[in-house]
Formats: sequence, C-alpha cells, structure tokens
Amino acid sequence: MEALFKQMEDFAKENKVPIINENGRKVFIEIIKKYKPQRVLEIGTAIGYSALLTTYYGAENAKIISLELDEERAKQAQDFINQSAYREQIKIILGDAAKNIEKLDKNYKFDMVFIDAAKGQYPDYLQKVLPLLADDGIILADNVLFRGYVMSEEKPPRRYKTIVKRLREYIAMVSDTDKFTTEIFENGDGLALTKRLKTN
Ligand code: SAH
Ligand code: MG
Repeated sequence: MEALFKQMEDFAKENKVPIINENGRKVFIEIIKKYKPQRVLEIGTAIGYSALLTTYYGAENAKIISLELDEERAKQAQDFINQSAYREQIKIILGDAAKNIEKLDKNYKFDMVFIDAAKGQYPDYLQKVLPLLADDGIILADNVLFRGYVMSEEKPPRRYKTIVKRLREYIAMVSDTDKFTTEIFENGDGLALTKRLKTN
C-alpha cells in the first residue's frame, strides 16, 4: 500500500489534485484509527486517496460510498482503487454530491461522513447528511479554515468570498453546543470533527 499511496501523492502533486495535505493527513489517520468507522460516506473522492486511507487504516471490511462530480477524477480514482485490495469496499457514485446524497437509502446509517467536496456547500451537505448519520456517528470536514481566511479578520480575495462565508456558517452550525460537540484541528487546512449530541 505504501507504494500505491506514494504514487497517488505524486500524481496529485503533478496534476494539482487537492488531496488531504500532509499535515491534515496525520490527524485524519489518527481519527480513522480511533473510531474505525464501518460505514463511511465520503463527499469528494478526487483520486480516491482519502478513501484508501480510510480502508487501509480503519475497520476491517469498512464500506465506503464516495461521491464525485468530475468524471475523469472518478475514473482515475477507480483505477487506483483497483490496484489495491479494497476494490470491493469502495463504491464511487458519479454526479453532484448534493443531489446524490438525497438518493441514498435513508435506512442505511453512516458511522462517519467525510465532507470534502464543494467548500461553498458545506452547510447544505451538513443538513443533508444528518438524517443519514448513526446516533454515535461522526462528521469530519476538511479545509474548514481554508488557507487561513476563515478565522482571519482580513478580507478574503473576492473569488473566495462565498466559500469563506459558507465555511464560517458551517463552523457556526457545528459549534451549536445544544446539538453538537466539535473540535477543530488546525493542522493542514483545518479539519473539523463533529459529534452529534444524543438528544437530537
Ligand atoms: N477527499 C479527497 C480530496 C477531494 S478534493 C482526498 O482527500 O483524497 C474535492 C473533490 O470534490 C474534487 O475532486 C472535486 O471534483 C469534487 N467536487 C467538487 N464539487 C463537487 C460536487 N458538487 N459534487 C461532488 N463532488 C464535487
Ligand atoms: Mg480537502
């Protein structure tokens, strides 16, 4: 697996694919090892890197449903996944994640949802995945600090304005202590780990 991960990291670098970065990766792996989620929903497959980390470091026979909009990336992901021992465990669904989440079986509850697709849609993703989350399930969201802009007082460049606004909204939503507990790891591009409180 080490060789395949290395190959994927090189591919990502060469083709500017934003896979979870080196610092975020460490936290991500620790969380996967700790919670060992069996049923995982991933929003944003890219080339399958984080999906393979999840199967490799996580529960034996964990099942991942991974959503990806870009056909070429999904193909590349399938290609890499086919070179691993986890091809039966990861299923990629091509298309817009927000739409495809709604088509998922409402009775199939996830132990973990990894949010890592369109940054401007995190609040929407959150609303949509909550009914699909197991009672003791966790939600991980990558890039919530988005290049430092989210927590900064400085105005973000115009092209990032909406993303930053939506990520702030996301953080505010998961910081509602009546509903959730959330820890934000500043490593990498910001990783938010959220658990839902039982009373909701
Ligand atoms: N989780 C991956 C990285 C994902 S990068 C890893 O860490 O290895 C974000 C991905 O989300 C990109 O591949 C992009 O094509 C995809 N994406 C963007 N908008 C999307 C949408 N609306 N629906 C599904 N996927 C989307
Ligand atoms: Mg990311």
